[in-house]
Amino acid sequence: MAKLLEGKLIADQLKNIIKSKVLASSRRLKLSSIQVGVNPASDVYIKSQKKNAELLGIEYDAHTLEKETSEERLIEYIQKLNDDASVSGIIVQMPLPLHMDYKKISQYIKPEKDVEGMHPVNMGKIIFGKARILPCTAAAVMELLNSIGIHYSGKEAVIVGHSEIVGKPLALTLLDKLATVTVCHIGTSKAGKLEEHVRRADILIVAVGRAGLIKGDWVKEKAVVIDVGINRVGDKIVGDVEFEEAEKRASFITPVPGGVGPLTVTMLMRNLVEAAGI
Ligand code: NDP
Repeated sequence: MAKLLEGKLIADQLKNIIKSKVLASSRRLKLSSIQVGVNPASDVYIKSQKKNAELLGIEYDAHTLEKETSEERLIEYIQKLNDDASVSGIIVQMPLPLHMDYKKISQYIKPEKDVEGMHPVNMGKIIFGKARILPCTAAAVMELLNSIGIHYSGKEAVIVGHSEIVGKPLALTLLDKLATVTVCHIGTSKAGKLEEHVRRADILIVAVGRAGLIKGDWVKEKAVVIDVGINRVGDKIVGDVEFEEAEKRASFITPVPGGVGPLTVTMLMRNLVEAAGI
């Protein structure tokens, strides 16, 4: 039976480290959030970010713009925060209204204030193995893996999902650690090859958003399974991996909820501290 990899325990340890760094610094840190329009999902994230920031002695400064705001106006707003020396980090809340392109917008946040690690400069540093700031979800996955002292070299790491916030940065990070990395996506599934790749995985990371996509009996004996997916099924939240069967085979597995989720906001705070260089 697998051991559970719970994000909260690691998050609590990291928060203590972050808090002591913040307290020891003469510099006050401020995280500025911009939300465009109102969205119940981002309201939940903003509340959690604010609570976490304040617990760590970081000022949280929330800005809300009208849903009809133009991209140009949002960019001007970001530039104002870029130029404000009292602002240490900027986060643009997702989802943005349909008339806005996040990939374009994220390029206007100064790389030094890009606490989500989405600016092309920060993304580019991942290729050279020099990233200090990883996108928060990818960073959370790496924290979970590092917490069990995995020796990455030569391990078969299979990542399902190739988004910019999870699969792509993780693929490069694990490659840099000399894991043998396979990235699966919709093309893999359409070709009927997902199962064969998953069966090889010593380290399996799944970030798709489809409940039960990964059958529990595909999981290799003693594999480490990180399930990033969040899916609502009836009144329950589940991941992308069939947990009960996978738990019998894996050596470590993240529960959903309670695995990756509790760590991501802590990674945002760590990125802020890193970005500020304290
Ligand atoms: P995206 O929608 O950006 O990416 C999903 C990925 O899954 C894409 O690469 C897509 O490939 C791939 N995919 C879709 N269908 C299949 C399939 N049938 N077989 C294989 N691959 C498939 O999602 P995110 O990366 O933003 O999020 C993924 C999941 O993780 C979601 O459930 C989300 O809620 C959750 N999440 C959890 C977080 C946490 O803190 N725990 C934080 C962020 C996300 P293609 O593009 O080729 O179609």
